[in-house]
Amino acid sequence: MAQMIEVKQTKKIMGRLGCGADLLEEITAVCREHDIRLGRVEAIGAVKKASIGFYDQQTRTYAYLALNREMEITKLSGNISVKDGQVFVHAHVTLADETGRAYGGHLAEGTIVFACECIIEAFEGPALERVFDGETGLALWDIRE
Ligand code: ZN
Repeated sequence: MAQMIEVKQTKKIMGRLGCGADLLEEITAVCREHDIRLGRVEAIGAVKKASIGFYDQQTRTYAYLALNREMEITKLSGNISVKDGQVFVHAHVTLADETGRAYGGHLAEGTIVFACECIIEAFEGPALERVFDGETGLALWDIRE
């Protein structure tokens, strides 16, 4: 059953991330600095290298793919909520190599920014907190009305 809440956009920030920064950590730090605990993020740019995850639904563990090469961020899309009381960014990326071939997955730490233009939208609404979900083994939003 779908579990949804209504949110209202309160502000939008945009800018660029620092060369050499860890992409996921930097987005999280920007959210913390701007006091954003609910929202969405999108970005384009390029990375020096990347680490992306794939969730194995049978073993309930993430397998990580290390891509030690320069790539374009053709799309980063994610959301911002709370886990263990801390701001938590969940993002997926599609990255393209010099042949145009694309790789995609769950954005993991270890993805290093070359250049990144980022837009973050902050929402106002009921707090979305991630909690362990027994059906999937993932930390998912627990929405009970
Ligand atoms: Zn994910």
